[in-house]
Amino acid sequence: MAAQDPSTTGPDGEAFNIRASSYFVLRAAHRCDACGSVSPVIALAVPPGHESTEADLELDDADADSPGLDPQAFRDWLFAPVQWQTIPGPAMISSTRALAPGVAQTLSALAPGYRPNPERSGEWSNFCEHCDKPIWDGALYPTTGQAFCPGGPEAAAQVSAQQVDAPFAAFYGMCWTDSYRNKWPLFARLGYVCDETE
Ligand SMILES: [Zn+2]
Repeated sequence: MAAQDPSTTGPDGEAFNIRASSYFVLRAAHRCDACGSVSPVIALAVPPGHESTEADLELDDADADSPGLDPQAFRDWLFAPVQWQTIPGPAMISSTRALAPGVAQTLSALAPGYRPNPERSGEWSNFCEHCDKPIWDGALYPTTGQAFCPGGPEAAAQVSAQQVDAPFAAFYGMCWTDSYRNKWPLFARLGYVCDETE
């Protein structure tokens, strides 16, 4: 097999869109919609200083009132080489379509219930430990009160976090940064206090 840089290429040749020098495996409990039993679930998070290719396109202040980039500027941006940007805050990912081989291998030992779902093009999913049905990411991440969206410190204390001191790379569909205020209790649980004083 030809040597590939594992930090920039996914299993299907797609570029990863997030990478970090370490990561967190978050563990929580979720009541399965399919069987009604409580199953362990995991999520993946990365610390401040991780890198992403998906940071918002920034406009110059002078352009702030314009409706958008002119077509040529947009085209330049669209076809520009991938730009990694350092992100100052933590993030959690979901709808994960690819994980670096080393991360996948670590998770197969740490969290065997989290694996690619063949019925969703290999997107990574938690599977119920009782009935083995996939647990939809939408039941775990977006809404306050769900397993990975604790509403406050007490609920966040129910989430455990294990830091893995090894390189991380993934291709996500959804990235929960600290711009999502409802993720602040979770990030505080990881030791990253978010506030509005910036
Ligand atoms: Zn179940």
